[in-house]
Amino acid sequence: MKIPIAIHRTPTSKVTKVDVEQSPLGTVFTDHMFICEYADGMWKYPRIEPLAMIPTHPAAMALHYGQAIFEGMKAVVNTEGVPVLFRPEANALRFNNSAARMGMPTIDPALFVAAVRQFVGVEHAWIPKQRGSALYVRPFMYADEPFIGMRAATRYKFMIIATPAQPLFSKKIRLLAETNYIRAAQGGTGAAKAAGNYAAAILPTEEAKRKQFDQLLWLDAEEHRYIQEVGTMNIFFKIAGKVITPAITGTILAGITRDSVLTLLKDRGVAVEERPIAIDELLQAARDGVLEEAFGTGTAAGITIIDQIQYKDEVLQFPPSTPVATAMLQQLEGIKTQEQSDSYGWVVPADTSVQEDVSSKVYTHHS
Ligand SMILES: *Cc1c(COP(=O)(O)O)cnc(C)c1O
Repeated sequence: MKIPIAIHRTPTSKVTKVDVEQSPLGTVFTDHMFICEYADGMWKYPRIEPLAMIPTHPAAMALHYGQAIFEGMKAVVNTEGVPVLFRPEANALRFNNSAARMGMPTIDPALFVAAVRQFVGVEHAWIPKQRGSALYVRPFMYADEPFIGMRAATRYKFMIIATPAQPLFSKKIRLLAETNYIRAAQGGTGAAKAAGNYAAAILPTEEAKRKQFDQLLWLDAEEHRYIQEVGTMNIFFKIAGKVITPAITGTILAGITRDSVLTLLKDRGVAVEERPIAIDELLQAARDGVLEEAFGTGTAAGITIIDQIQYKDEVLQFPPSTPVATAMLQQLEGIKTQEQSDSYGWVVPADTSVQEDVSSKVYTHHS
């Protein structure tokens, strides 16, 4: 079923005035936004409109109590010139998991995916063509009910905006293993893509950047011993020929890139382990000369090779050769652009079928 989304196009696109191949991620936004409202227990009036300010009541609950979640996905133009998305259904399901944890309404995954596909269809001219570049698509939801008091909001907005993105980290990065602050504890919100998780990470990350590190490596909340993840990425290691990544136990974000890399590695017959990894294990592996690779995985940066990790006074230096990370980078990039065959059915075309403005039809959906 095609979900009716009203489309009102801007008569004055900015796309010809902007160099989408050069503008840094997050600085330039496309012509339109997707928007719909939740009230009376249902999602109403999904529509794509010219990007504009959204009037907000000063008591909007997201501003006070932080009910706000988001997703991040990338659209590219495939080898046939068709705008495509990578695993949008997985983003829809994760969005609902985040919403549930934050006491927010879920959204029909079919509406989420239809909204993203139609929105990218409308904005396809904004997708950079250079290899490694993409249109970064940002679905998000926040509580906009004006109310002071501690309870779940009854009104929300679900929106999508987009910004052209160049390859983020083309260089190798240095991480600081954080032994003071924590990102997430058991029972907390670490598994949700919630705005508040980022708010709490800003100060520690800024401190690490002042010390010339690129990102933080988060350790567990109880012992500051087990590897969790990197700022906005999951992490993989290769130790003595085995690829390992921390298991999903409730304190790390279940990355779609992480899941994709695990699938690709298993299908290549590479031994992969999802389990707790103590920092001591890395130190021992370094001493034994079997600490072979480390890389981060995430939609924004793709695969990012890690050069060094500092833990207290020790520096873990990874070797220059990175066969697993490089193979994963090439295979993922190849699948996303459909240069390589997508035997997993991960790539989904954007919906470019709507060429005319479509007037508002009332569509409501119970969550
Ligand atoms: C989004 C995110 C990731 C990466 O997830 P992908 O689905 O691969 O983009 C990893 N860690 C955190 C904290 C994140 O917010």
